[in-house]
Amino acid sequence: MSNIVAIVGRPNVGKSTLFNRFLERREAIVDSTSGVTRDRHYGKSDWNGVEFTVIDTGGYEVNTEDVFQEEIIKQVELAVDEATSIIFMLNVEEGLTDTDQEIYEMLRRSNKPIYITVNKVDSATEELAATEFYQLGIEKYYTLSSATGSGTGELLDDIVKEFPTTEYKDPFEGLPKITIAGRPNVGKSTLTNALLDVERNIVTDIAGTTRDSIQTLYNKFGHEFVLVDTAGMRRKAKVKEDLEFYSVMRSIRSIEYSDVVIIMVDATLGWESQDMNIFGLAQKNRKGIVILVNKWDLVEDKSTNSTRDFENQIKERIGQFTDIPILFISALTKQRILKAVEVAMEVYENRAKKIKTSKLNEVMLPVFEQTPPPAIKGKYVKIKYCVQLPTPSPQFVFFCNLPQYVKEAYKRFTENQLRKHFGFTGVPIEIYFRQK
Ligand code: GDP
Ligand code: GDP
Repeated sequence: MSNIVAIVGRPNVGKSTLFNRFLERREAIVDSTSGVTRDRHYGKSDWNGVEFTVIDTGGYEVNTEDVFQEEIIKQVELAVDEATSIIFMLNVEEGLTDTDQEIYEMLRRSNKPIYITVNKVDSATEELAATEFYQLGIEKYYTLSSATGSGTGELLDDIVKEFPTTEYKDPFEGLPKITIAGRPNVGKSTLTNALLDVERNIVTDIAGTTRDSIQTLYNKFGHEFVLVDTAGMRRKAKVKEDLEFYSVMRSIRSIEYSDVVIIMVDATLGWESQDMNIFGLAQKNRKGIVILVNKWDLVEDKSTNSTRDFENQIKERIGQFTDIPILFISALTKQRILKAVEVAMEVYENRAKKIKTSKLNEVMLPVFEQTPPPAIKGKYVKIKYCVQLPTPSPQFVFFCNLPQYVKEAYKRFTENQLRKHFGFTGVPIEIYFRQK
């Protein structure tokens, strides 16, 4: 599980500018291949080879005065719940404000490492002005210009160096880890409880095993698996989580820690942007995905047509990766929840599947032979052999003479062929063409 760096601070201090700077370098390398739409508030970065997740907690900011305080509180809570390290950003142009003081008070009470950064320090003049922030009673701050990137290196050196290094011992090593994610009120707790009730087998709650997460071991229906639930997810919104950003972000740690993400959707509401955000998080982290349309008991027309319509509606919105199981369940009446568990286990197996190199070549080379990449400027792409990488989720490398001529459409064709021949339902696949 990667470390999570959260950026907090008042509006306009430069959080999203810094966020974008962190992501920039890596986006160019990784995300261009995956076709995943860029999330404005969540992404992966790395520094000196150490990968980490970044969240801009100022997401969906509402700037009117009366909600302002509440927003700041949520932001800080989110950072404290979900992050490994917190960057608290101040703005030298505006100097120290009362709100800054209040945020700092809240952060100080958490036991997370806090990095106080003074932004918009574009020259020596501001460097001097920044000294006013010592009024916070702090020993050290970092000065930054997010706009130019100056100062970010020193900050990142320290953040990465101080990431918790203690090797976390997973008490459930090797068992499938599953997260039930979804909007508030879709039925996540009802499903969790229903799973408990079906058969009272061994259920073990181990609190605090992964920083503040609870893992519940289920051993039933002939399957053993672990439901992952983090402090952030458990926190029943004191303030109603009206802004979708917060409820989505509350699940990031659970998602990152899991192998399979069950996305619950409310049948009476349909697939909404918040579901899309959760889907994007799971996909970007290359997790197995199962979609459960819950509260199916409330739907009057349960014909094949209506399930097909619902499925199509979801598939139209989720983009290219549509090879995903969609089940219609009722957590309340326990209808089909056993099936849901079985399907989640299948997706887990699919994600862990390793295709032997000999088998892969035996199947794929004739496919390429039959349907080669279209020639470009009279040049032919010849794919010579392929391997699956030993990664936790399926990734394949295809060696060829002219990888630069292999276009997106052909990558998609290749992915579809892999899915067709080897069965990777519910699992994002990564494909690379490399020079040989
Ligand atoms: P957020 O609301 O905290 O996410 O702030 P933004 O990242 O949207 O930045 C607010 C404004 O400050 C934008 O106009 C940025 O261009 C500007 N800004 C951000 N970082 C810097 C900086 O290092 N120097 C200067 N001069 N302006 C900056
Ligand atoms: P959570 O916020 O996602 O954990 O949602 P809850 O499990 O607390 O459920 C929210 C509400 O939806 C509760 O009133 C549940 O009884 C109800 N609910 C959950 N699952 C179902 C279902 O399958 N059918 C119906 N009719 N109601 C459900």
